[in-house]
Amino acid sequence: MSFSPLLQELIEALRCLPGVGQKTAQRMAFHLLERKRESGLKLAEKLTEALTAIQHCQSCRNFSELPICELCNNSKRDATQLCIVETPIEVMTIEQTNTFNGHYFVLMGRISPLDGIGPKELKLDELEQKLARTTVKELILAINPTIEGQATCYYLSELAKKYQLNVSQIAYGVPFGGELEWVDLPTIAHAFKTRQFL
Ligand SMILES: [Zn+2]
Repeated sequence: MSFSPLLQELIEALRCLPGVGQKTAQRMAFHLLERKRESGLKLAEKLTEALTAIQHCQSCRNFSELPICELCNNSKRDATQLCIVETPIEVMTIEQTNTFNGHYFVLMGRISPLDGIGPKELKLDELEQKLARTTVKELILAINPTIEGQATCYYLSELAKKYQLNVSQIAYGVPFGGELEWVDLPTIAHAFKTRQFL
């Protein structure tokens, strides 16, 4: 059985989403065409709009349509605390707990020597420049407890030493290898409050 060329292309395009294989992509495409044309067009419009306008904040690298994001621009936030996370979704997760009122820096990955990803690939000189020119006194490492996460924490705690900053690591009530994104909010809030100074 073959689909019309456009339908085939739509199915292929949908497969770029995580966890979406051929069957799910087919179901999605048929669902949009049969019942959700208007919503589908809205989705296409929002995708184009968001993917074109949203870039990385020049200060924290979180997603933002402004050069400097609202969070970095908020003078009510504590500029002495800098929380380091791996990905933007973790900023959102931590914000939802309402426990942290400092600033963030998003690594956009983690140090993984086996994959050839070091400080240079993560452009951590941007973090150094930030540390050199801001009033940060404490680095809070909210890094996932994986092997690569440990290597990343080690590098960051050495960096903290260089700039004479306190460094702490949030505690986890999750099994080793768990991803921060999937931990429930009270657990993350607790992990912040009970963070260990290194
Ligand atoms: Zn920012």
